[in-house]
Amino acid sequence: MNSREPVTRELFNDVMVPNYAPGAMIPVRGEGSRVWDQDDREYVDFAGGIAVNSLGHAHPGLIGALQEQAEKLWHVSNVLTNEPALRLARTLCELTFAERVFFANSGGEANEAAFKLARRYSWQHHGPEKHEIISFTNSFHGRTLFTVSVGGQAKYLEGFEPAPGGIHHATYNDLNSVKELISTEKTCAVVVEPIQGEGGVMPAEPEFLEGLRKLCDEHDALLVFDEVQSGAGRTGHLYAYQHYGVTPDILTSAKGLGGGFPVAAMLTTAKVADSLGVGTHGSTYGGNPLACAVAQKVIDTISQPEILKGVKARSEKLRKGMMAIGEKYDIFSHIRGEGLLLGCVLTDPWKGKAKDFLAAAQAEGLMILVAGADVIRLAPSLIIPDQDIEEGLERFEKAVAKLTK
Ligand SMILES: *Cc1c(COP(=O)(O)O)cnc(C)c1O
Repeated sequence: MNSREPVTRELFNDVMVPNYAPGAMIPVRGEGSRVWDQDDREYVDFAGGIAVNSLGHAHPGLIGALQEQAEKLWHVSNVLTNEPALRLARTLCELTFAERVFFANSGGEANEAAFKLARRYSWQHHGPEKHEIISFTNSFHGRTLFTVSVGGQAKYLEGFEPAPGGIHHATYNDLNSVKELISTEKTCAVVVEPIQGEGGVMPAEPEFLEGLRKLCDEHDALLVFDEVQSGAGRTGHLYAYQHYGVTPDILTSAKGLGGGFPVAAMLTTAKVADSLGVGTHGSTYGGNPLACAVAQKVIDTISQPEILKGVKARSEKLRKGMMAIGEKYDIFSHIRGEGLLLGCVLTDPWKGKAKDFLAAAQAEGLMILVAGADVIRLAPSLIIPDQDIEEGLERFEKAVAKLTK
């Protein structure tokens, strides 16, 4: 067998570690918010590669940025710096609260850096006792051992213990549960997703994030926002913290930041950044020129006011359309989320069956996502054309009509 021989979905089971259960079709190309599989069947993409393809597929600007950099310089290691990394860091500092940036390759890695930084900052300024991290049940922060431990879904830690210690889980949107755990002597950081993504597309109440900021200030703890899913324009703001008006000390970004190219960033202040001195942390690929050149184009594009405004308009259209289908077939109790990160919460008779909707939609030529068993999640391209929203909604209604018959 050579590398050019055709491959099928069946091959997955023979050659891949079984940690995923991919769908039956294999996508082979995409353009905008449409994707084609091996049989040239076309799909409307409401999934966006799980909130990653922020500018859709094969975006000419991103192709241009990648090709231009590909012909110049791919990699030099962090023994040297490079122009695309410096430019991207400068842009991120200009557009956010950040004064310093660390680049990584994935959300989990950016969070790993954030949690390590929080511990080290606290160790340096307050001593080793102040190392505890408070996060939330149902949160998701990645799959490294530290990030699954901070994450609030016990099933992801099962069989991987012993886990790192000093981590406590409070209840999301419940400030009192944080007050019970936080202490000036012990807490180094509170880690929170402004909108819980994997945990069911659950937005934070503004007063909750405001209260966390206040508690962190009172107890000399750092506030860490995991914006891996909510960031990079998805809410109609460059970062969700700007929507809430609550500024963290550390923010992590990945997924949509690269529009499909692996790249992640940890943003922080100069004072906090100082605790990651020379040699304390690193990443071979982090900040490599190819990734940074692509991310630069993504950020330059999505930070334009008309793109961010467009997210709100598209969100309204998509939400209304889903609402109407939800009412007609009595499948959604409500729709939550911000911008183009929407969670359609299934009514009691359909609870636990989100995956059935995903399969039914795929059969009608529509890609959607789930967030747990009770929520259908939509995270399309931030520039999905109106016609594609309409076509996707039509296909979804067809799928629902068949499923509910
Ligand atoms: C996806 C996600 C991560 C993990 O990102 P990876 O790139 O898969 O490591 C972390 N936090 C949040 C909020 C996410 O949605």
